[in-house]
Amino acid sequence: MGRSSKDKRDIYYRLAKEEGWRARSAYKLLQLDQEYSLFKGVTKAVDLCAAPGSWSQVLSRKLRCQEEKITGVKIVAVDLQAMAPLPGVTQIQGDITKVSTAQEIIRHFEGEPADLVVCDGAPDVTGLHDVDEYIQAQLLLAALNITTHILKPGGTFVAKVTDQIIKKQKSNFFFYLETFLSHLYHLSFCLFCLDFLLSLDVDFNQLEGPNRVIVPFLTCGDLSSFDSDRTYPLQLDSCKEYQYVPPTQSPIHPPYQHACHLRKNNLLSKEDTVHKFGHPCCFIDLN
Ligand code: SAM
Repeated sequence: MGRSSKDKRDIYYRLAKEEGWRARSAYKLLQLDQEYSLFKGVTKAVDLCAAPGSWSQVLSRKLRCQEEKITGVKIVAVDLQAMAPLPGVTQIQGDITKVSTAQEIIRHFEGEPADLVVCDGAPDVTGLHDVDEYIQAQLLLAALNITTHILKPGGTFVAKVTDQIIKKQKSNFFFYLETFLSHLYHLSFCLFCLDFLLSLDVDFNQLEGPNRVIVPFLTCGDLSSFDSDRTYPLQLDSCKEYQYVPPTQSPIHPPYQHACHLRKNNLLSKEDTVHKFGHPCCFIDLN
């Protein structure tokens, strides 16, 4: 496969590189902003699970360049992984499910709560669906927990959820939101996920109290944008020739670095058991 094939298959991956975003996810936040003016008047924001940092990039560009001259912009980005620095963004490297990380984030906002908390968290998948969903749900709950301590009343919380989480944990999820929403009064809760509305077997009209605040759940983006599921030709514009653009920012110290090193140096193969046991079936070569 050529290095341009992913540019063909994933238009947002390609655009992100061409427009200088660290990840394609930048467009999700930009589209949410187009729909809901998320950043209007926002000076203090937290980006949970931020690496490699495209949402923090969006926050940095949007909050620090608003039309009205806004001072005192504070952006805090948190992730398990280290992240290359960004202008105006304070980084915390830590696990958002740990109390110590939550406390560190809260310390940054003491006395001046955040206007916006965003969380695009996703754990490394194990391939065991139930485990993966459970961890994803725990991440979302940890994000909500932190949010209740730092978000101002009327502030906005944006989080990624999957329809599986909603389907399988619906009752807990609504209960949890109800509890939190009563703390946060007019929280604007934006959730985005594919087929989200369809997956909910809920009669919205029956919901009462704080649950009504979260209805309707909304998806956004419209048909005028590129379709992320479509394959586009490399030459998008007839006047401009396609040129391969490398990723904007390579991850620093990614967890797979060690595995890459082993593979490059041919150290991934298990011991050659052919010599040891004289049986060819025992030989495993992961290369
Ligand atoms: N929004 C990011 C961007 O635009 O660049 C992409 C986020 S990526 C999809 C998910 C991130 O969640 C990963 O960087 C991962 O390290 C982080 N993550 C997963 N579990 C976490 C945890 N318990 N605490 C902090 N970060 C976590």
